[in-house]
Amino acid sequence: MPYRKTVYFSLLFLLIIGAILAGIIFYARNQKLQVAFFDVGQGDAILISRDSQQILIDGGQSGQKLMEKLGEYVPFWDREIEVIISTHPDADHIGGLIDTLKNYTINQLIESGAKNQSQVFGAYEKIIKEKEIEKQIASRGMKIKIFDGAELEIFHPKISMENISEKDTNEASVVAKLSFGENSFLFTGDLPANIENQLMNDNLPLSANVLKVSHHGSKSATNTQFLDYIHPQEAIISVGKNNRYGHPATETLQRLQGENIKILRTDESGDAVYNCENINNKCKMETEF
Ligand SMILES: [Zn+2]
Repeated sequence: MPYRKTVYFSLLFLLIIGAILAGIIFYARNQKLQVAFFDVGQGDAILISRDSQQILIDGGQSGQKLMEKLGEYVPFWDREIEVIISTHPDADHIGGLIDTLKNYTINQLIESGAKNQSQVFGAYEKIIKEKEIEKQIASRGMKIKIFDGAELEIFHPKISMENISEKDTNEASVVAKLSFGENSFLFTGDLPANIENQLMNDNLPLSANVLKVSHHGSKSATNTQFLDYIHPQEAIISVGKNNRYGHPATETLQRLQGENIKILRTDESGDAVYNCENINNKCKMETEF
């Protein structure tokens, strides 16, 4: 009978919709705080997420690679990234962001304020203008609190870096620390050693369990004094296989080993993912060090 058939299909339809909704709610409620250092080749791209909230720090070089990673780590129905921080204008940090700015809604875009004349930076600026995304310049003391119990605080730049020379934009790298109970992560972009010294002189509370090693392990950063100051137990080096810069430098690896810091490299281990159950527990790394 057609009537019975209609009722039957309507019920089936409702059941399926109900199951999908229940699945989405279950997924959202069960999400832990996660910090994922993506393997995007030579470059940096880090996603901090919980529920359907995300903070993306840098985007690596390739839009395609980053979109693949976001497809894997962001639920398919979520087309919004709450906060993007672009640490400085180098292509291996902002190149991948261009497609993300095109394809996702961005609530807040924070950047160092440093500029350069590259094509990549031009394309990045163009899409920001087209989509009328409002930019905020990072400054010391800014706090981002989009996750329950977690906070991301910005420590550098201290003053406006908008007029910094193009060759020194690494010095403008946004430095931010994520705190979640006893867990802490320090993100340093491509910060060079002279700015590490400045941060120490300013006596900032930078100590962290996990350090995102600056500048892909370049020898011009991550000095022993800075490591003593941060006192990390674990270090993540975001670096591409056989890159032409020779990153990470043997000297940097030796300095980290000298301080008994466990090292994980994205070129050897792929994505480095920490899952943080709650503020009372230590975040757990999915991969073995
Ligand atoms: Zn870089």
